Amino acid sequence: MPLKVSEILESELYTKENLVTLLNASLEDSELIFAKAAEIKEKFVGSKVFFRGLIELSNICSKNCYYCGIRRGNKSPVRYIVSEPEVLEAAHYALDNGFGSMVMQSGERIDKRFIGYVEALLKKIKILSGGRLGITLSMGEQTEETYRRWFEAGAHRYLLRIETSNRELYYKIHPQDARHNYDQRLEALALLRKVGYNVGSGVMIGLPFQTSEDLAEDLLFFKEQDIDMAGMGPYIEHADTPLFKFRDLLIPKEERLLLSLKMVALLRITMKDVNIAATTAMQTLAKDGREKALRAGANIIMPNLTPLKYREGYLLYENKPGTNEQVEDSIRNLENQIHAAGCLVGYGEWGDSKHFAKRKYDSKV
Ligand code: SAM
Ligand code: SF4
Repeated sequence: MPLKVSEILESELYTKENLVTLLNASLEDSELIFAKAAEIKEKFVGSKVFFRGLIELSNICSKNCYYCGIRRGNKSPVRYIVSEPEVLEAAHYALDNGFGSMVMQSGERIDKRFIGYVEALLKKIKILSGGRLGITLSMGEQTEETYRRWFEAGAHRYLLRIETSNRELYYKIHPQDARHNYDQRLEALALLRKVGYNVGSGVMIGLPFQTSEDLAEDLLFFKEQDIDMAGMGPYIEHADTPLFKFRDLLIPKEERLLLSLKMVALLRITMKDVNIAATTAMQTLAKDGREKALRAGANIIMPNLTPLKYREGYLLYENKPGTNEQVEDSIRNLENQIHAAGCLVGYGEWGDSKHFAKRKYDSKV
């Protein structure tokens, strides 16, 4: 007989079968999962939330993922790259407002010019902040040499979602060619770890064809990969992408949000001391989606510092919020949401993953 939700949480036996039961829990039972995650969060990472000012550096992408609004094959977005003075202005803003860190995210490019541009930006941000701003990158799969160059120039965290740990599903949501290769993505995660980054990964939740078993496997995958941080969120359809034709297979948006919150809570429960982002995609499905994610175990928020004129160009999915919101307004909203969730902002702190610190320490002793 399968165990009940309360029995699994009590026994702390997080097998695949038990994780599936937890992912399928009713709304009422989900509250038990969230309460357990909140308890573990308080004990292992505390109630501080860390801000990472987000720059969506460029929507130019050489890849063609079937789900993404800025995929190479989509002719509608006006392609852009944020200029150096604009990036540095955002870095000043982050510094002046007590953000400990920045995140630079971008479409994937592997050409020399782009790699050099990112390297130069990293060095300049480090100089202008006197080393005070920590920097996370999310720029897809690169060579070991590129990862090393960017690390040496000042980036110390890197987010690379596996998108789904199910190889078959991976190939349903990506073209089958050399640029979209599951093993290469896995290899990139290994390279990031080798170079010395705090390594983050994540998945999309509620994809067409995805099952609770797949999501349970994703949680086990994160554990096996020993990731330091995670950025997960609901999959949200975009009309100008190939995956849109499967929209009738999707679960309703409220259920997708609940499932995403359960994934956050279960990752907190199973990995305890990792950093987990409350993502924009959660906020897209509910105004208080990020607040809910903080209550479910997340501890990182990435306020968008991309200049407003570029925001329409970075529509990964439909109804992405913040395209015409002033930065100051959104920060004020965020602070209110964070306080409402019973958390504090860790101003001026990097807020690195405690999991990373522990694995570095363990590797020395
Ligand atoms: N190009 C880099 C990469 O793919 O790793 C970083 C930028 S990419 C836009 C960041 C993340 O956006 C992806 O990892 C993917 O999970 C997410 N994303 C793209 N399209 C999405 C969609 N339709 N719904 C939800 N998330 C999406
Ligand atoms: Fe490009 Fe990343 Fe979008 Fe894939 S998910 S198309 S790599 S920006």
